[in-house]
Amino acid sequence: PTDINKLADEYLRLAYHGLRAKDKSFNAELVTDFDESVGLLNVVPQDIGRVILNLITNAFYAVNEKKSVVDEDLLYQPTVSVSTRKMNNKVKISVTDNANGIPQKVLDKIFQPFFTTKPTGQGTGLGLSMSYDIITKAHGGQLTVKTKEGEGTEFIIQLPAN
Ligand code: ADP
Ligand code: MG
Repeated sequence: PTDINKLADEYLRLAYHGLRAKDKSFNAELVTDFDESVGLLNVVPQDIGRVILNLITNAFYAVNEKKSVVDEDLLYQPTVSVSTRKMNNKVKISVTDNANGIPQKVLDKIFQPFFTTKPTGQGTGLGLSMSYDIITKAHGGQLTVKTKEGEGTEFIIQLPAN
């Protein structure tokens, strides 16, 4: 039994401090909104943790990339949010960023193994395909994405409640 809220919070902070350690200028606002009624879920914590970390790392990368382009006018506040919700017989975990969103022709391929838009050495293209398998095949859940060009992206994990 795993405390999903605690897991998500830990990985968010771990990813953030990891990036700050490598790049002192990296900053982002972290927003969390945890539903206490989510409780404990019977999942493999390392696997769900890895999925959450993948989504959060992608979100930080995307906001950082956007910031590097719009930096000058200081109007952009990079923000990554993690939230949980208990809904009927499901638990929903959302990772949201306010980066540039995913263009349709990229969106068609993001869950394919080895698909990446990142420069060589910065991405393996395996994060989302592995995440998809972990959530759908190993845990009987769903992994979906909502994105709006110029505004941001939300990845939604849905897991069956116990
Ligand atoms: P990698 O991070 O190694 O590139 P992933 O499977 O994690 O591999 O992601 C595949 C691609 O999906 C990324 O290269 C990027 O183009 C796109 N992507 C994933 N998450 C986001 C996001 N939050 N915002 C914009 N693009 C994203
Ligand atoms: Mg990735």
